[in-house]
Amino acid sequence: MSDSVSEGKLEIKQASKEVKESENVAEKYSTMSVGKMGSDTKLGDFAAVPAFAAVTSHKPVKKQIQFADDKQEFNRFPTKTGRRSLSRSISQSSTDSYSSAASYTDSSDDEASPRDKTQINSKGSSDFCVKNIKQAEFGRREIEIAEQDMLALIALRKRAQGEKPLAGAKIVGCTHITAQTAVLIETLVALGAQCRWTACNIYSTQNEVASALSEAGVAVFAWKGESEDDFWWCIDRCVNMEDWQPNMILDDGGDLTHWVYKKYTNVFKKIRGIVEESVTGVHRLYQLSKAGKLCVPAMNVNDSVTKQKFDNLYCCRESILDGLKRTTDVMFGGKQVVICGYGEVGKGCCAALKALGAIVYITEIDPICALQACMDGFRVVKLNEVIRQVDVVITCTGNKNVVIREHLDRMKNGCIVCNMGHSNTEIDVTSLRTPELTWERVRSQVDHVIWPDGKRVVLLAEGRLLNLSCSTVPTFVLSITATTQALALIELYNAPEGRYKQDVYLLPKKMDEYVASLHLPSFDAHLTELSDEQAKYLGLNKNGPFKPNYYRY
Ligand code: NAD
Repeated sequence: MSDSVSEGKLEIKQASKEVKESENVAEKYSTMSVGKMGSDTKLGDFAAVPAFAAVTSHKPVKKQIQFADDKQEFNRFPTKTGRRSLSRSISQSSTDSYSSAASYTDSSDDEASPRDKTQINSKGSSDFCVKNIKQAEFGRREIEIAEQDMLALIALRKRAQGEKPLAGAKIVGCTHITAQTAVLIETLVALGAQCRWTACNIYSTQNEVASALSEAGVAVFAWKGESEDDFWWCIDRCVNMEDWQPNMILDDGGDLTHWVYKKYTNVFKKIRGIVEESVTGVHRLYQLSKAGKLCVPAMNVNDSVTKQKFDNLYCCRESILDGLKRTTDVMFGGKQVVICGYGEVGKGCCAALKALGAIVYITEIDPICALQACMDGFRVVKLNEVIRQVDVVITCTGNKNVVIREHLDRMKNGCIVCNMGHSNTEIDVTSLRTPELTWERVRSQVDHVIWPDGKRVVLLAEGRLLNLSCSTVPTFVLSITATTQALALIELYNAPEGRYKQDVYLLPKKMDEYVASLHLPSFDAHLTELSDEQAKYLGLNKNGPFKPNYYRY
């Protein structure tokens, strides 16, 4: 028998073992009817919220996730007085979740640092630090608009009227502070938690939203345009309280976790659970776990299906057009576009552009993704083959130096170049900083790079994430991720001792399915219920989970 055949057999064995495990998990949900999961779900009916019942597969999942070499280590942590580079602020802490670009207060004429002001909310509290507490009313309106598209969280709140699954939880959070995260934070409060919050990105805070939260009694330390020093000061103010110790962490990027781990070791040891949303933060948690230093259970929300398959694919499908239109007013019909990378993000971008009549080319290194692109009707090419003719170049690989100076030199006049991937090194922007090229800032986030012969390349957001830098992202997608975060917190906080060890866990598949089911009523979608006979035939519990852990969707 060849090696590959025996490897294949091994994989099948492993797969069937996982099916059995997931069946065992499904047993635990026998009280949860498909009706409650699906079309009949009344959003106020949470009798079956898995987190309120006992949930889950208890196995750590670190082996399922593999990371390439990465130089970011938990131990290489910046000190309070140390400096974070700007690029790290942007790329590390804000690449996997989103902020709204809309703000009433983007350009404030008040230049004084919030740290130098004394502000008091209408209840007499000064336990917050925001740009201007008087903007609270504007922020409240933004939050109310977001609530309209975040019905799953509103439903969780209704459920909480009778039950407070987070009573006693003291959550310290570090996320983008936007209208959408405000809905999450206020949901956690409605579920019984006390929250203190800071921003995971120095630019993404919606000042008026931070004010509205502070006015409502959440201790928020954040404003748009913080310095590096402010950033760490805000984190510290969230954690460092004489009569208040956090017992849960909700993080996006790992900076808060990092800070508590290094600076408040005793507090860290008493944390009941960490919920982490971003690729980067999850990576850092796995590193800590690998080094045997993670003394707290953590939930990896980033790799739950409802995050990865929705944020990456659908969010990008919508926001790529928004980002390109706002910056360039380009019309897509008949335009030639090359998209580098046909993963989730690439697939989303391609679908959107194809739908508007663009002619789309793909570059890929992976034959499977390349074949998918072919089957979806796209031409798979090498970048060099089309670089002279395309009107738009979009990178979505998560890799570096995908578009290099040689490509940029060969582009035609007016070619638009942008990046949708994690790092700002997919396009070698540094190579464009040479004396013979002229840079002209023509709009916010839009540069014309001009060659000596007059050719112009239109570079968006200096090669940083286009949608994050230049557009908003749909609230509905954020609702899915936020619901996942809320359920992960509830699960970790309520789990009986021993269910979660000091390791990194994926959200149980059952919960992923539940988060999805909560969003179905928005579409008046009607789920089909398995008959007893069908369930037996497929070897499934009628109430899910409906797929084994290795299912790829
Ligand atoms: P993915 O791994 O599914 O897809 C990336 C694809 O790029 C893979 O298929 C890979 O084979 C291909 N690739 C790698 N190097 C390449 C190269 N040199 N040339 C051509 N193809 C190459 O990842 P994904 O979920 O699509 O995410 C892609 C990037 O986007 C990541 O950095 C991720 O963090 C980021 N991301 C962005 C957003 C956003 O809103 N902009 C949302 C989620 C994720």
